[in-house]
Amino acid sequence: MSEGSELETCIIGAGMSGLLMGIRLQAAGQRFRIFEKAASVGGTWRENTYPGLSCDVPSFFYCYSFEPNPDWSHRFSPGPEIRAYFERVARKYGLLEHISFGRAVTSARWEHGRWLIGTSDGEEVRADVLVDATGPLHIKHYPEIPGLADFAGACFHSADWDHDVPLEGRRIGVIGNGSSGVQMMEPLSRVASHLTLFQRTPQWIFPLGNKRYSERERRWTRRLPMLGKLTRAFYKRIFDLASVGVTEDGYWRRRMAKGCRDHLASVTDPVLRAKLTPDYEPGCKRLILSNRFYPTLEREHVALVTEGIDHVEPRGVVTLDGQLHELDVLVLATGFRPHEWGIADVVGADGLSLKEAWASGPRSYRSITLPGFPNFFMIVGPNSPIGNISVIDVSETQTSYILACIRRLEREPGRALTPRPQAAEAFQASLREAMQGTVWVTGCQSWYLDPDGVPTLWPWSAKRFHQLMARPDFSHFEWIDAA
Ligand code: NAP
Repeated sequence: MSEGSELETCIIGAGMSGLLMGIRLQAAGQRFRIFEKAASVGGTWRENTYPGLSCDVPSFFYCYSFEPNPDWSHRFSPGPEIRAYFERVARKYGLLEHISFGRAVTSARWEHGRWLIGTSDGEEVRADVLVDATGPLHIKHYPEIPGLADFAGACFHSADWDHDVPLEGRRIGVIGNGSSGVQMMEPLSRVASHLTLFQRTPQWIFPLGNKRYSERERRWTRRLPMLGKLTRAFYKRIFDLASVGVTEDGYWRRRMAKGCRDHLASVTDPVLRAKLTPDYEPGCKRLILSNRFYPTLEREHVALVTEGIDHVEPRGVVTLDGQLHELDVLVLATGFRPHEWGIADVVGADGLSLKEAWASGPRSYRSITLPGFPNFFMIVGPNSPIGNISVIDVSETQTSYILACIRRLEREPGRALTPRPQAAEAFQASLREAMQGTVWVTGCQSWYLDPDGVPTLWPWSAKRFHQLMARPDFSHFEWIDAA
């Protein structure tokens, strides 16, 4: 733990948000330690290495506000560049010495006024404050398709890409057309002899080109940091405006829908266009941004299969119409289990487990805390505005909020804080009511929805998020003895 404060904070995960929490705590002279299951930092950008991986938030906005990068290669820079950015930041801020690599947190129990944290190497450590920075898109979803294990070729999840498998000239199949499946289609089409996308539900695709920044532009941004700041402010503004479209019916929602529908109309083959046409509103599932997906599907050696999958056999995928689609490589771009939180076994005060507290889906008080779990904070927790704004913007606000709580804890020695159940219930009730106006409940299946069909998102504007989260309202918390 670093020196300075009496309190000790344990952060789980050294991805974008865990690193950010470390930077904040370090600047505030707090003692902290980060546990990271893998051997390096980067979280999602370390785990996902599939061809075509990039971030659909513009790079000038997908970086810490206090750590701009004038050297982004593209408007939406590739995944390895983003990963390198986080590695660089971790080194620059001296975070590596605070990180225990290769140690997954396997359990956390509130005991005698502190967190008792178990790690994968069988050790136990204690901390006053526990920050879960594992994020919702962490546990891979493997589809339950009969015969999948019998497939004779190579088969792997999109977040577990096997780079030893040659792709050149191979027959490649991709199951899933979410952001991951869509992003990999164009680069795979360049190497595959035949590429098949197995689509269960059509997706709305908003067309967005990916501009490459020239060396000259980058030189100017290096020379004049204000240019980078202005670019960031521009994209932030666009996101704040566009995010209104998902939470409120009106101009921005219509504009988003028109962009998607016009783009779909650009598909020249009517049969293909019909297969690609969703029967729900644009934005209901997470919107996908791409101007390459449709042209890729129109290529000769690329097939879109919409017939359901019956089973997999050693030679390939068999669809419900009995057709065998022979494959050498099968990619499972089937997403994640966002409602199973990163750490399996968290037990708060009075023996209440996170699993019990979330029996009918993940809940939070203002996306960060939850009743019965003293001094426990989540970054990008349930009800964060991840369907609206840049997750880095979200994390910056949430880590400031958490730091404000930690500072308050310092002034209350021997006490711990947890949100009042009434405050959490009132927040959840207003959230459920506001969800009615969002596009996410207009009739589709998506990973946003909890088992009760309620989106685990933020149903209000980005502005409201920043206002409400600007500082903790301590009247909504109760103090318990932690001596
Ligand atoms: P996803 O959006 O959850 O998509 C999973 C896909 O797999 C869906 O098309 C789903 O079909 C399909 N699927 C799941 N189980 C299936 C089964 N048994 N049989 C057939 N199809 C099945 O997952 P993702 O593409 O990995 O993306 C997850 C999230 O990660 C994104 O929404 C985004 O937030 C994030 N992401 C972001 C970026 C970025 O650029 N920022 C890039 C990649 C990922 P159904 O639609 O029918 O369920």
